[in-house]
Amino acid sequence: MHNVIIIGSGCAGNTAAVYTARASLKPLVIGGHEPGGQLSITSEVENFPGFPEGVLGPQLVENMKLQAQKFGAEYRHGTVDEAILTERPFRIKIDGVWEETRTLIIASGASARWLGLENEYKLIGKGVSSCATCDGFFYRGKEIMVIGGGDTAMEEANFLTRFGSRVTLVHRRDEFRASKIMLDRAKANPKIEMILNTVVDDIYDVTKGEVTGVRLRNLVTGEAYDRPVDGFFVAIGHIPNTKFLGSQITLDEDGYIVSQGGARTNIPGVFHAGDVQDRVYRQAITASGAGCMAAIEAERFLEHEGH
Ligand code: NDP
Repeated sequence: MHNVIIIGSGCAGNTAAVYTARASLKPLVIGGHEPGGQLSITSEVENFPGFPEGVLGPQLVENMKLQAQKFGAEYRHGTVDEAILTERPFRIKIDGVWEETRTLIIASGASARWLGLENEYKLIGKGVSSCATCDGFFYRGKEIMVIGGGDTAMEEANFLTRFGSRVTLVHRRDEFRASKIMLDRAKANPKIEMILNTVVDDIYDVTKGEVTGVRLRNLVTGEAYDRPVDGFFVAIGHIPNTKFLGSQITLDEDGYIVSQGGARTNIPGVFHAGDVQDRVYRQAITASGAGCMAAIEAERFLEHEGH
């Protein structure tokens, strides 16, 4: 029987692990299908307080994990298939193995969203990617395309100019969701070309097993045309990882956990932390803060119950 199981090993999960481990609760942390969370697929983090020179995202999450392990947190590779939260102790199925816990912290984050094109799925890992840091290296001197108009798209486009001969950013509107500083940086980058009011209708070439080009369509003029591309990066937002919860936890229409105040969910003893609940701030530092809140609430809950 565990005191605390933490689902997810991003900033939220790792910070909850540091706090609960330091409170001698020996948390079990489930790594999830993207261990390290969003920071593990980003490059330089310049806005996490305490690092005036910046820090690499993967390094930052690894440091958090080491810190939690130092205080006795146990990390396990795997994903949660199912959770039974209607009775206590809660039961969590991790890669087919059931575990019991008195409290649960859900820090399972949100995963990359795809365009939904048939050929996009077929070409994932063969030129289609959602992670510039992971795959940018493969497109040295090549034509790269990034889809999206938010901060992620700007960040990825900027990062990918390190590798590509040219980076074309395609956005479906002529206004951006990205913050001014990120947008200005992308606009000032001579290797970035922006194509606006435009969507992707198809990606080639499944028969060759690699990306060779795309079909674009201008939404204002209706003009459709092909463009050669080697690396295709989708940066259009995220989907919360809450499927395994079924209808036990109250979710909003997009699947994000609805907070009942603090880190509380609708089930006492089950807490939320990070992007799985936060669709507004979604920063490393806010996820860490939320992990801290969830840990403190779990600690108090256990104390109240006499554990
Ligand atoms: P956002 O939701 O902010 O932006 C998603 C973008 O993708 C929008 O421009 C949207 O277009 C576009 N989009 C969505 N669906 C489609 C589709 N089907 N086809 C074409 N385009 C589509 O997501 P981000 O991942 O960019 O950012 C998420 C959060 O993380 C934000 O709060 C952001 O500020 C933050 N962030 C911060 C960073 C930093 O500070 N270093 C770095 C990265 C992210 P439309 O605008 O038309 O809806």
